Amino acid sequence: MTENLASVFEMEKEELIKAGIEKGLKPFQAKDCYVWLYNRRVNSPEEWSSLPKTFRKEIKHYFDFSFPQILKESVSKDGTTKLLLELYDKMKIEAVYIPQGKRTTLCISSQVGCPVGCSFCLTGKGGFIRNLTASEIFLQLVVLEKRFSLFGKHYNVVLMGMGEPLLNLDNFKKSLKIILDPEGLAISRRRITVSTVGIKGKLEEYLQDTGLPPIAISLHSAMEEKRRKLIPSRAVLSVKEIREILQKSSRREREKISIEYVLIRDFNDSKEDAYALKKFCKGLKVKVNLIPLNQNKLLDFNSPEKEEVIKFQDILSSGGISTTIRKSRGGDINAACGLLSTMEKIKAR
Ligand code: SAH
Ligand code: SF4
Repeated sequence: MTENLASVFEMEKEELIKAGIEKGLKPFQAKDCYVWLYNRRVNSPEEWSSLPKTFRKEIKHYFDFSFPQILKESVSKDGTTKLLLELYDKMKIEAVYIPQGKRTTLCISSQVGCPVGCSFCLTGKGGFIRNLTASEIFLQLVVLEKRFSLFGKHYNVVLMGMGEPLLNLDNFKKSLKIILDPEGLAISRRRITVSTVGIKGKLEEYLQDTGLPPIAISLHSAMEEKRRKLIPSRAVLSVKEIREILQKSSRREREKISIEYVLIRDFNDSKEDAYALKKFCKGLKVKVNLIPLNQNKLLDFNSPEKEEVIKFQDILSSGGISTTIRKSRGGDINAACGLLSTMEKIKAR
């Protein structure tokens, strides 16, 4: 960010239009600025050809138009590419490009670090630094789009990078206004998945707003004590509370909610664990996504045996629960789930 100038991307649509009018534009021209910036992804005002030349020249003296910088790219054998992005205050986050045949998924962060501190997640082990601003959330998409020529193409978005989105819900909601707006980034709500451990007060608030994207709940164990060992934070809802909330909301929501379950060898991958999960899911409109743990020497846990994963899946499937196994991507570059960014920080300690 250029010193002293406020980022143009931190303004909401109405604020930006107002600012344009204050600088002498007609209302329709001011709205055009928004369309150029977001719908057309043009962040150099000189190119806003429908607007007066003097305005295009001057506006750069009032606002900063820069994006987070790509500091480093790590490319995996499978094509998954992790971008290390630097924010205005030198903080670093990661955003990941995941090509899967014809499908593309972009994985973005919601915070610098994460305060939840899950014991199997490297982001959690690295601690928490700060929330991302609204623009820092959506600009990850714009930066990934530009880097991988995705503008105009369909892709999916997952909030599964660093951080817990529901602990930064206000900024995330602000970010979504621009992401979902047909005159903004115009990304369809249903292409986005927000992953959360289930934060007290926030999960209910989130599910009540049907304009927000589908959600995935990181459960990891249907047994309270075990889940607490994995997710120690007091801000997180209990298994029972999550079930009650889902029971109420699944009646209203047409979309199935995903239950994410990181499988850890000899910890939560037994038959008993599978039966507990099956019981949890009974009567709920959910699907289960099993994620074999991505192992790392800084973590005290191990990946499950392949056979155990299949057995686990079979128990759930036999109960009529739609269950998929997530294929790990980008493991060789630490871009896999739960292995983001803190590598450098942890190493530096
Ligand atoms: N904080 C949110 C979103 C970011 S984490 C959440 O926890 O849901 C995104 C996903 O990565 C979560 O499902 C999380 O459980 C998973 N994850 C974390 N560490 C992992 C690891 N070591 N191996 C596999 N998945 C992991
Ligand atoms: Fe935070 Fe999610 Fe990692 Fe837990 S799994 S520490 S909530 S990013």
